Amino acid sequence: MLYRTSPRHEAIPETHVPHQVYIGIGSNLGDRRANTHEAMERIKGLPATKIVRSSSLYESEPLGDAKTWFVNSVIQLETELLPDQLLKKLKAIEEAMGRKRVKGKRWGSRIIDLDILLADQDVIEKRTLKVPHPEMHKRRFVLLPLAELAPHVIHPQLGQSVSTLLATVKDAKRVTLLPRS
Ligand code: ADP
Ligand code: MG
Repeated sequence: MLYRTSPRHEAIPETHVPHQVYIGIGSNLGDRRANTHEAMERIKGLPATKIVRSSSLYESEPLGDAKTWFVNSVIQLETELLPDQLLKKLKAIEEAMGRKRVKGKRWGSRIIDLDILLADQDVIEKRTLKVPHPEMHKRRFVLLPLAELAPHVIHPQLGQSVSTLLATVKDAKRVTLLPRS
């Protein structure tokens, strides 16, 4: 057994402390509910990763050019993957699902969108990966499902809890609970 020394010099067992990560899932094409569940199953299959909890599914009014309402949800993961490694795996899942479902069509459709919202209290500002997700605090369709799982978690850059961010968000787009089927 390996030991490391805690700040108070007690010997404590060396363990792999998993990262607590929240992922936002969105789909607005095809069978949106099935796409969401398929993505969750694929995430469950990632190495050294487990889904701790998942939010309800919500339906949200589309942004920008999209015409179909989105199905949005959030899952909480415990993973030993580092954020960069996780992003790579999530992109591979998006691509695998896209290729399978949109035969002969150009990529760009939102069959599935997997975003890393929060990873522990990390702040990452790379070109390819920004954590917390730069738009999360502006989007009701992210904050509402996230608040189900993590109302007291603090946004490390804004210093406010998810429930406070939800209470003050200025997003007029509608978000409604999707009934279980
Ligand atoms: P969006 O989710 O912003 O609508 P995309 O899903 O097409 O758009 O993502 C575009 C790029 O955003 C990805 O290639 C990825 O490298 C980058 N990105 C930066 N930060 C994150 C994050 N926290 N989670 C997921 N992707 C991210
Ligand atoms: Mg994305």
